[in-house]
Amino acid sequence: MTDSTRIALASRPHGEPTADDFRTETRTLPALADGQVLLRTIYLSLDPYMRGRMSDAKSYAEPMEIGDTVVGGTVCEVMESRSDRAQPGDIVLAYTGWQTHDIVSERHFRVLDPDAAPLSAWLGVLGMPGFTAYAGLLKIGRPQPGETVAVAAATGPVGSAVGQIARIKGARAVGIAGGNQKVEWLREAGFDAALDHRSPSFAHDLADASEDGIDVYFENVGGAVWNEVLPRLNKFARVPVCGLVSQYNATSAPTGPDLQPRLMSAVLTKSLLIRGFIQDEFWQEMREDFFRDMPAWVRDGKIIYQEDIVDGLENAPAAFANMLRGGNFGKLVIRVGEE
Ligand code: NDP
Repeated sequence: MTDSTRIALASRPHGEPTADDFRTETRTLPALADGQVLLRTIYLSLDPYMRGRMSDAKSYAEPMEIGDTVVGGTVCEVMESRSDRAQPGDIVLAYTGWQTHDIVSERHFRVLDPDAAPLSAWLGVLGMPGFTAYAGLLKIGRPQPGETVAVAAATGPVGSAVGQIARIKGARAVGIAGGNQKVEWLREAGFDAALDHRSPSFAHDLADASEDGIDVYFENVGGAVWNEVLPRLNKFARVPVCGLVSQYNATSAPTGPDLQPRLMSAVLTKSLLIRGFIQDEFWQEMREDFFRDMPAWVRDGKIIYQEDIVDGLENAPAAFANMLRGGNFGKLVIRVGEE
C-alpha cells in the first residue's frame, strides 16, 4: 500500500490565489487493477492555464471542483505495473496533478526515453508549452523572412520558443519581459531586441525596436503591453492569441477609456488577423513536425531554454501565485521527488 500526498483546491481564488485556497491531504492508494500503473511524481509542471481551471467562469475546459486534486502535467516513475505498456522504472509523461503518487490507466501516460533530454524538458520546451509556441506561431503567425515578430512573457517556455523559432524562420524577434535579468537572458537567446515592459520608457523602446512596424504579435499577456503593440501593427499583421496572463487574476473590468472602437478600427483598416487558439487544436496535425524539429533545434543549440525549478510539492501554491505576477524566471517546475 502506498500513501499519496496531494494538494486539493479548497476554495475558488478571488484575485490572486492564496494558501487558504488549497489544502494538503494524504490518502492510501488502493491495489492496482489490470491495465493500471502506480506512478511516483518526479516533476510537476505549473502553468498559467491552471488559474482558469480554479475559477468556475465558463471557459474552453471544465473547471476543477472544490476538493479536486489540482491538475497538472507530470513526469513520473512507474513504481508498479499491471500494464504491458510500462515496466517498473520506466519514466512517463502523465497528467497526475499536484500529488506525490497516483494510479492511472494505461491510456493516460506516454513512456519517455530518459536519455533523450533532461526529464523536466518534457514539461517545457519539448512539451505542451513548446508545442504551443511551435503550432501557434507557424500555423497562425506564419512569420516570413525579414518580418518582425514580437512576443511578451518572452523568457517563459512559450515566449522563449516563439522568439527563437521566429529567428530560425528568418524573422526579427522582439522579446518583451519583466526586469533586467530577464532582458539580459533574451539577448543571450539571440533576440534582436529585448525590452522591459516595466520600464517607464517601454513605449519608446518598443517604437525603436520596431521601426518598420510589427508583422506578428504572439499574444501571451494582454493588458498594457497589448495597448502599446496595437498601434505598431503593420497592415496584414497576424496576432495568434495564446494567453492573457495579465488578466487571469482580475476581479473586475479595467478602468479607463473604452479601447474597443480603436481596436475594431485597427482590425478593419489594417486587415488584421487576430486568432485565438488552444494548442490541442493542432496536436494531430503538427505533433510529428514538432517532434522532428524541436528536439533537433534544442540539440543544435538553436533553441535554448530557461527553467525555474522549485523543490517540494508543498511549495506549489506559493510558486504558482508568484508565476502569475512574473516572479518565475523560465519554465516553472516543481521537483516533487528525486530523479
Ligand atoms: P510564463 O512562464 O511565461 O509565466 C507567465 C509570465 O507572464 C510571467 O513570468 C510574466 O513574465 C508574465 N506576466 C505576468 N503578468 C504580466 C503582465 N501584467 N504583463 C506582462 N507580462 C506579465 O508562462 P508560459 O510560457 O507557460 O505561458 C505563456 C502564456 O501562454 C500564458 O498566457 C498561458 O496562459 C499561455 N498558454 C496558452 C496555451 C494555449 O493552448 N492557448 C498553452 C500554454 C500556455 P514577465 O516577468 O516577463 O512579464
